[in-house]
Amino acid sequence: MTVRVDLAAVRANACAIRDRVGVPVFAVVKADAYGLSAARVVAAVDDLVAGYCVFALREAVDARIGETTGKESIVLSPPEARDPQAWIDARARPAVSTVDQATVQRRARPVVTIDTGMQRFACPPADVDNVLRAGAIDEAMTHATSLAHVRAFLEVAGGRGLRLHAAGSSLLDEPSARLDAVRPGFALYRGAARVSARLVEARDSAGPVGYSGWRGETGRHGVILAGYSNGLRPGPCLVNGGRRRIPEVGMQSAFVELQPGDKVGDEVVLLGDDLAAEDVAKVWQVGPHEVLVRLTAMGAPTHVGP
Ligand SMILES: *Cc1c(COP(=O)(O)O)cnc(C)c1O
Repeated sequence: MTVRVDLAAVRANACAIRDRVGVPVFAVVKADAYGLSAARVVAAVDDLVAGYCVFALREAVDARIGETTGKESIVLSPPEARDPQAWIDARARPAVSTVDQATVQRRARPVVTIDTGMQRFACPPADVDNVLRAGAIDEAMTHATSLAHVRAFLEVAGGRGLRLHAAGSSLLDEPSARLDAVRPGFALYRGAARVSARLVEARDSAGPVGYSGWRGETGRHGVILAGYSNGLRPGPCLVNGGRRRIPEVGMQSAFVELQPGDKVGDEVVLLGDDLAAEDVAKVWQVGPHEVLVRLTAMGAPTHVGP
């Protein structure tokens, strides 16, 4: 399995986002930058962004974000340790949602995360005043998935001199969602990862194939050494520049329906080239974020450019 990350593409995405939104960009590099490698992504985009978001404090420490960039990371998960010094040492700021968290983390300059509909580790609007006071807080965020969430956020947090941010990738095109900063993750990585495997077998099919006895249209099939234990599901792929299909996935191998010229050693592209995460997501019936992290998790990424 080959996972190749084009850092020039990540950089171009960051550049385009920065120019389009006109407000500071916090690059979301949680989950090891969706499998692309947080340390490598940070190094590639640092001059284009104002800071970072990770999920756990450990992620900022492991990618040495504060150390190598001097910039801050917002830690999105509820603070797991009570000692604010750990955050300060990593130049990380905890996202807090309770008076207790805000009080404990006050020295680490916490950001309040406000619930505008997500209903997951965020502060109910009624508690915001108390949390702001307890943490001496000057920055507020919400995890908005719609403009209604942004409006609700502004009602609670607007007009108080707080720095405000709400938008991830899905709201970047909405000027009214941009506020004082944006927090894109997926949009930074779009088109930057290419995941492929090689055909270890290719043959003309003799009747029904595999566990399920599937029958292809082409009368030819092959096998790759990636299966559901690697996160793969039945869906589209590319071979020799053309669309093919993965009709059945086993534990550690999968069948690929082939065209007549396809042969052993040919590359089967699971993501990249003309196959976007959104294309795969439609067939898998999951979101494109899940496709990206499942497929990039299939191997250690190698990086090209910038
Ligand atoms: C993951 C996350 C983001 C980024 O989401 P994308 O859809 O990948 O851009 C932004 N904000 C919060 C709070 C998140 O958890």
